[in-house]
Amino acid sequence: MTHWSAQDIRYLKGVGPRVAEKLARLGLFVQRDLLFHLPLRYEDRTFISPIGSLQPGQRCLVEAEVLQSAVSFRRGGRSRRVLTARLADNTGMLTLRLFYFSAGQQALLEKGNWLRCFGEVRSAMGALEMIHPEIEAIDAGDPPPLAQTLTPIYPTTEGLHQLSIKKIVGQAIDRLADEGIAETLPQDWLDANQFPGIVGAMLDLHRPGDRRASDLIARNEHPAQHRFAVEELAAHRLALLERRELIRQRKTPRITPAADLQQRLSAALPFTLTGAQQRALGDLTTDFASGKPMIRLVQGDVGSGKTVVAALACLPVVESGYQAALMAPTEILAEQHLRNFSSWLEPLGLEVVCLLGADKGRRRTAKLERIASGESQVVVGTHALFQDDVNFHRLGFIVFDEQHRFGVEQRLALQRKTRDGETPHQLIMTATPIPRTMAMTIYADLDYSQIDELPPGRKPVTTSIVSEQQRDSLVRRVATACADGGQVYWVCTLVEESDALQAEAAEQTYENLVRALPDLEVGLVHGRMKSTRKDEVIQAFKRGDLHLLVATTVIEVGVDVPNASIMIIENPERLGLSQIHQLRGRVGRGARESFCILLVGRALGDLARKRLEIIRSTQDGFEIAERDLEIRGAGEVLGTRQTGEMSFKIADLMRAQHWFAQVEDLARLLQRSESADARAELLRNWIGERQDYTNVG
Ligand code: ADP
Ligand code: MG
Repeated sequence: MTHWSAQDIRYLKGVGPRVAEKLARLGLFVQRDLLFHLPLRYEDRTFISPIGSLQPGQRCLVEAEVLQSAVSFRRGGRSRRVLTARLADNTGMLTLRLFYFSAGQQALLEKGNWLRCFGEVRSAMGALEMIHPEIEAIDAGDPPPLAQTLTPIYPTTEGLHQLSIKKIVGQAIDRLADEGIAETLPQDWLDANQFPGIVGAMLDLHRPGDRRASDLIARNEHPAQHRFAVEELAAHRLALLERRELIRQRKTPRITPAADLQQRLSAALPFTLTGAQQRALGDLTTDFASGKPMIRLVQGDVGSGKTVVAALACLPVVESGYQAALMAPTEILAEQHLRNFSSWLEPLGLEVVCLLGADKGRRRTAKLERIASGESQVVVGTHALFQDDVNFHRLGFIVFDEQHRFGVEQRLALQRKTRDGETPHQLIMTATPIPRTMAMTIYADLDYSQIDELPPGRKPVTTSIVSEQQRDSLVRRVATACADGGQVYWVCTLVEESDALQAEAAEQTYENLVRALPDLEVGLVHGRMKSTRKDEVIQAFKRGDLHLLVATTVIEVGVDVPNASIMIIENPERLGLSQIHQLRGRVGRGARESFCILLVGRALGDLARKRLEIIRSTQDGFEIAERDLEIRGAGEVLGTRQTGEMSFKIADLMRAQHWFAQVEDLARLLQRSESADARAELLRNWIGERQDYTNVG
């Protein structure tokens, strides 16, 4: 007989076909899935907050009397009715607003009634209000009892009410309490770590017990939370490690060493490689020699010289009769890579081509032909490399610059581009430091090298925080620096991701600066310009024909102009710390003393100031990433695009720092365990159908 926990969710009360469809969207199919559908957060409805003590942003329970209520009309006609009620307890006043309401709700809010409301407190024009709180009429002399424990709030989906999902999950929890389920982790390991068993831990999280248990949960310190977080992280690590093993069993191009060519390129460079660059190159050489697909992440702070390492790694690939591709996140960067690669590789007799989205018509056809025939041995480009009509002759090696994680489509497209079922070697380069907890979990499928040394002669960048009121004196400082032969970046940021708005802000700033600095040559680049135009402007800046370059964050990665020594970043509080650090890496590359000036608005909050202070006080990219992770979480540090589908039910990477050893230990234990079924079940419980995310193809 099927164990209850493996039974279809549709046997439960309240789950018809339509609800089942919605539950499927949440990855919930059988009853055990409901157990692992853990509360997203908890609400505390165990006490009444006096209105006088409310703070905006809190979610609270209040009890108060309706002093008056009225229906008014917003602009836009009769359909825009608003029901407003004024409430008071003996400590203060609170306004309720309902933008849609039934006759029943209107009756509930009649003058003289006593209400119990739960909702988020907001501040509107100096007064406190709640919009669409949960409302219950009470008898002031005999109010109903309060909840004794925290109220769990479940992740849900559109069209599925919180109360509905709570009832559905509740049925599975009832059965869990009566009939139990088998333990998922080795008992010895649980005992050794003093972790609770699965049934008790599940019950604790779905139905928090007494006050003490609730307090622990509210502080994220309950042993059940700890157990499941470690279990979840270990499951993710295991999934990625297993996937890595599968990939490593695939056929891959045989690459033979090309020490001669590498020697010739090194000799032609105007510098010698740093020890760290040599070590990274050594790792790549070892990978090629292993006969297994390379899947390696090379991290090196901005300016550590990753590009030349990638170029050197292309040589044995080409010598072995394969093509190498380098994918950059932006056209500006692709074109810069093209120039470097051409100047390094063409003297050795290699053909380098650059393919961009902007390549159209005959020019595109010609490039595609040379790529398909194999005459172009090294292909540089953007996402355009993945388009359907791009066929490689024999792709053996692909370098992803400044991008950690790829969409499923890109990976499939990449597979289609290889021949004979061969998996190309893959190198991923990033300046964003990978905190240890991330390396352990979300990058577990990658080998890892670090270029932890900057080329000699780099100057530290002095960073300061300057307020908007000092803009005029800042502009004068720019004028002086440029008169002195220096060059300056002026970076504009906007909250919206929209290119159009960013471009507009940059254009406005550009016009103001052109007017304020009539003696200087000022250029503008933003994401909405044609790539040829962008490139012209950047080239002019590189040649020194422009003093001042106004830009959006398109210049964040890679742009290399050693003479530029001042960078001004407007509204830096809108960016992630690692992003600011990347931008700052554009200066401090030449002989001049360099400055980064963070130009902030008047009303900078405490938290924002604290974050910028981190940037000001350190140039250690690792420290910045760790602190950013603490403050904002992984998705923000790496960008959502880069964390992709990766999300956790209960673990968070910030706390995971303390669990490092436990996660690794558990993953190792499970990996060695005999029972493939137990492993499969663990992955199903924690990752479910979302097995699509990984870092490699
Ligand atoms: P990133 O690691 O940020 O991609 P780049 O590869 O763009 O850095 O290198 C930054 C600059 O440093 C480039 O101008 C590059 O030519 C130069 N460079 C690279 N390696 C060295 C080195 N060993 N010594 C001196 N300069 C170097
Ligand atoms: Mg780079």
